Amino acid sequence: MLPGPARVGHPSFGILSCVNETGSRSTADVVVVGGGIIGCSAAAIMADRGARVVVVEGRAIGAGASGRNLGAIQHPFDPVLATLYVESLDRYRALADGPSAGAFALGRQPAGLLQLNRDPDAARRQADRMADAFPELQPTFLGPAEVAELEPLLVEGLTAVLLATGYPVPPAAATEAWADLAAERGARFNVGEAAQVDVADGRATGVRLEGGSTISAGAVLVAAGPWTPRIVDPAGAWRPIVPTWGVTVQVELAGLAPTHVIEEDEGDAINRPAAATERAASSEQADPPSLFSVASAAGITTIGSTFLPVEPDEARVADFLMSRALSYMPSVADARIVGRRTCARPQSVDGRPFIGSVPGSPGGLYVCAGHGPWGISTGPASAAMAARAVLDGTPPPPELDARRSIGE
Ligand SMILES: Cc1cc2nc3c(=O)[nH]c(=O)nc-3n(C[C@H](O)[C@H](O)[C@H](O)COP(=O)(O)OP(=O)(O)OC[C@H]3O[C@@H](n4cnc5c(N)ncnc54)[C@H](O)[C@@H]3O)c2cc1C
Repeated sequence: MLPGPARVGHPSFGILSCVNETGSRSTADVVVVGGGIIGCSAAAIMADRGARVVVVEGRAIGAGASGRNLGAIQHPFDPVLATLYVESLDRYRALADGPSAGAFALGRQPAGLLQLNRDPDAARRQADRMADAFPELQPTFLGPAEVAELEPLLVEGLTAVLLATGYPVPPAAATEAWADLAAERGARFNVGEAAQVDVADGRATGVRLEGGSTISAGAVLVAAGPWTPRIVDPAGAWRPIVPTWGVTVQVELAGLAPTHVIEEDEGDAINRPAAATERAASSEQADPPSLFSVASAAGITTIGSTFLPVEPDEARVADFLMSRALSYMPSVADARIVGRRTCARPQSVDGRPFIGSVPGSPGGLYVCAGHGPWGISTGPASAAMAARAVLDGTPPPPELDARRSIGE
């Protein structure tokens, strides 16, 4: 019996067409594994260059963190990532102005990021640190009266550092818009079957799908977030990216919604790329390691989040997040909970994505993964770098190159 036809789904999950008559084999210039922000933006960028691209997504477009994040596009606190953010912002502006934008819209100016602190001295120190490291963010210390004026829904007595960044967007909107743009440019989507890489004579020759179909290709780009290492190296030698699980709660607030992106100030730790991994490693404590964060877009306020090494009990963690949120935003007591989401950040060992060829991997096999908590903010620029590696053989800068040392 012939195998069933391979499904090629539209980004919005419908079935678009069959790969071919027998369903057994199709060809492409590039197969992208993973339909998150990285895979979808890479597909759009490569299709724009004329490449025949197929995106294979095991579950649904945006099924991972790309559809379930907080929804804030913002300046990371690492100069290398900041460069990616600046280019991504330009790419987002073009996306928002184009016909595929859908629910994705970007304000002309950032809404502003408020880093909250209950300790005024700690907030002043944070403002100084930020001014030294990222003067372009115009860090400003705010006393309790100024915080109350900017965000009247916050509990009284908080201090903050205001930073000139933070664009709230509906969490899945960026990925869906990139997927739509990729489809418009001719990329095909095969949604609902996990893929593994096919290798022959030391070269990646395409992918094999769960249902048995194969797609042969000149190159394979694995953009599968935290699942990337086990796809590119099933033997397990290359493991620089681990999942760090986060839960968020979506609410409709009865009154005012926050206009800024708001985060609990993590002080020193937020400037260190390994902070998320350290938080996850210390998760033995009774309360899950978490940072209060909030972003509001299109009438929904998303409250985050945790940093956990294993997939948590969503309901329990959501209750915990709501009780923490209450201590910052009393109005959440009257909020209507409209959703809860769990997903994993692809956390890399040094906090930066791995782009290009992995050491010792077959020819024609590339990765773009490991964006940790910053993938929406930096993804499109890193996807463009991956596209140049795949299509032109241009290696990424050493600090982002997948061949860099990952230590012991
Ligand atoms: C709670 C939380 C809040 C966040 N908030 C923000 C934020 O406000 N701003 C920001 O910039 N970043 C944020 N992030 C980080 C950001 O969401 C991630 O860095 C980003 O989404 C990672 O994108 P990705 O495409 O690499 O991976 P993913 O989104 O994980 O996508 C990978 C895809 O690959 C698919 N896949 C896996 N294995 C296979 C296979 N074998 N075959 C086919 N498909 C496969 C998966 O189903 C998945 O859809 C947040 C993350 C979390 C967890």
